[in-house]
Amino acid sequence: MPELPEIETIRLRLRNGDHESPSIVGRKILSARLFWNRTLAYPTPDEFQNQIQGEIIQDVLRRGKFFVFPLSTKYLLIHLRMSGDLIVEDDSYKVHKHHRLIFSLSDGIRFAFNNPRKFGRVWLLDDPKPILGELGPEPLDPDFTKEDFYGRLHPRRRQLKPLLMDQHFLAGLGNIYTDESLFRARLHPVSLASTLTRLESENLFEAIRDVLRQGILRNGASIDWVYRGGDFQNYFFVYRRTGEPCYRCGTPIKRIIVGQRSTHFCPNCQRLSRD
Ligand SMILES: [Zn+2]
Repeated sequence: MPELPEIETIRLRLRNGDHESPSIVGRKILSARLFWNRTLAYPTPDEFQNQIQGEIIQDVLRRGKFFVFPLSTKYLLIHLRMSGDLIVEDDSYKVHKHHRLIFSLSDGIRFAFNNPRKFGRVWLLDDPKPILGELGPEPLDPDFTKEDFYGRLHPRRRQLKPLLMDQHFLAGLGNIYTDESLFRARLHPVSLASTLTRLESENLFEAIRDVLRQGILRNGASIDWVYRGGDFQNYFFVYRRTGEPCYRCGTPIKRIIVGQRSTHFCPNCQRLSRD
């Protein structure tokens, strides 16, 4: 599943344009074509098509793993979930079989939601708060401090792995970046959040920021989903390295299931505390 760095990479491409496609900011949405009705979480397909026409894309923002497009009068939200990409291309191209929604924009350009596994969702809302307001803090927000993080972490008697992946606790982490953060902080994935010392919490906070920043610098990771560009998968310490030696100590990386998610860690570097 694309996580914060992959979403941020796509966001920057849409907002700023690149050598393959122009920016979509400032362009008018002439029409929308829906190829899979359940792509729309809200409103109905008819309402969506009527309401979106003529709206101008003001910016491309991100909140957690959501794309947020402020339009002239409304907000368009897109969540890729398991797979997918947002593609800007010439509107005369043959429609790709995994395009679920296409926006025809001004100047013969189109903006397509390509979603092979069909789990991705789109919302068109007057106010995005009912959905985005439920999300936890942005890990890279400069106003979010290590004290804030400890204050959220300490009261919770939950295992670190599922807690960090909980979007209400912290927005943007998924399986990959959680495993990589816990390795960097030398914390066992099933340690209870409430048992962490202040120093361990600070190390985890820094590890999360560090791994997300590195992921963004490498344009995310290209793995599992249709996604182009990133190469952070070549820099993983633990994720999908089961049985391979830990780069720090040489112990084989172990894979366990935590909260139904496969979890990778070094059993030597990431010891479970006794309490
Ligand atoms: Zn190790």
